[in-house]
Amino acid sequence: MDTQEFRKYAHELVDWMADYLDNVEDYPVLPDVAPGDIIKQIPETPPEKSQEFDAIFKDFKAKILPGMTHWESPNFMAYFPGNKSKPSILAEMLTATLGAQCMQWLTSPAAAELEEQMMNWLRQMLGLSKSFTGVIQDTASTATLCAILTARERKSGYQINERGFSNEENFVVYSSQEIHSSIDKGVKIAGLGLNNLRKIDVDENFAMKPAHLRQVIHEDIKQGLTPLCVVSAIGTTSSTAIDPIDEIADICLEHAIWHHVDAAYAGTALIVPEMRWMSKGVEKADSFVFNPHKWMFTNFDCTAYFVKDPMALINTFTITPDYLKTSVDDEVKNFRDWGIPLGRRFRALKLWFVIREMGVEGIRSRIRDHISYGQWLKSEIETHPEFRLMAPVPLNTVCFRFEPTGFNERELEQLNKSIMEQVNRTGRLFFMQTTLNGKFTLRLAMGNTNLTKVHVKNAWSLIQETAMAILETKKEGKTV
Ligand SMILES: *Cc1c(COP(=O)(O)O)cnc(C)c1O
Repeated sequence: MDTQEFRKYAHELVDWMADYLDNVEDYPVLPDVAPGDIIKQIPETPPEKSQEFDAIFKDFKAKILPGMTHWESPNFMAYFPGNKSKPSILAEMLTATLGAQCMQWLTSPAAAELEEQMMNWLRQMLGLSKSFTGVIQDTASTATLCAILTARERKSGYQINERGFSNEENFVVYSSQEIHSSIDKGVKIAGLGLNNLRKIDVDENFAMKPAHLRQVIHEDIKQGLTPLCVVSAIGTTSSTAIDPIDEIADICLEHAIWHHVDAAYAGTALIVPEMRWMSKGVEKADSFVFNPHKWMFTNFDCTAYFVKDPMALINTFTITPDYLKTSVDDEVKNFRDWGIPLGRRFRALKLWFVIREMGVEGIRSRIRDHISYGQWLKSEIETHPEFRLMAPVPLNTVCFRFEPTGFNERELEQLNKSIMEQVNRTGRLFFMQTTLNGKFTLRLAMGNTNLTKVHVKNAWSLIQETAMAILETKKEGKTV
């Protein structure tokens, strides 16, 4: 492709992109495809000869687009949002064009220094203490793995990296029963063994019980085991439960345990000062992670990882073969030593664009709107005779279910599953379930970039109408 063609197609694509952003609600949020539908449209072997870009783009529209789930749609209320915004998309275009591999300072000084400053910005935006230093990671899963590995190395005097495990390390990790599966994965990969991950009880709000944490730690110490790390959550994935960070932090300090705070989704809400009660005590933690790529309007991937002791992180991950050594190594941050991969994308640019274009004020006001939608739906459900709230709603994720009288637990589960499946089949809304107290629960996460109150009202109406229609057919004795 020559530059003239590139210019032509780039303009064409930008027009398409703008139309897509305007019209995303015209697409079914969830595509109507069965497993194998897409792959059978893609040739089994690669083309030997060059193909026209027109044909490639045509196939994108004909074969790929109909198989996409539209995360950009404000009617996407499943999982957590994977937000982006127009300034973020523009930054990603520039990042792709520069194509820089930002493994260390010398391979793109601007990328390294912008990253350093963006992490300072984010730290201030979230009201985190100055004692935290930040680095961008690809995902929260990776950041949490980094925390567990750093805790492991610091506790072992950086010896496990050298000699492997001995028989003396009996490390134990703690999290609540509601914590994200990335903690299980991190414990597995760090070689600690899933048997050494303790799932602490939660209270009626699905938040970790510090008294139980304390008790389990004492029992482990009595057994000769070494408590290594506690992972607490500001906003669990299932119901955005808020662990008592302050109390957990004190327990960790008492026993010299690494305290990692997983705020992957809800961290963004700390931009709003009235939500900072959630992070009380976080300055006592060792590490903190949140994902601008979830709720903060920044394209995947972009995870902000903050640590108290960057030297511990660097000592855990540094590997400096001769070919990576540079004359400025003592004066700069080489972020290759701050995580697992050597290669790094230029991810700070999109943060810079987003924060400048929206302004902190703009981000804050949109987050406030999203939280208000959550609170509105919460009160709708509370006052509805046949729907029941299943968890507190501190933010904008609402867990609930349809509970008309005269149905047993198994029937209620079937009824709610039917509601979800029927609604999702319409293409007008996409949401998912979770399990709370062992019960099948409907869950709406309302944080999409383009979400308005109208979308939330429509979603709630659609769910109610579907529920009532299914109930009617049940009453008439038909099967669903
Ligand atoms: C989404 C989520 C994660 C995982 O995030 P990735 O960036 O996809 O790895 C971890 N913890 C919580 C609480 C989450 O909501």
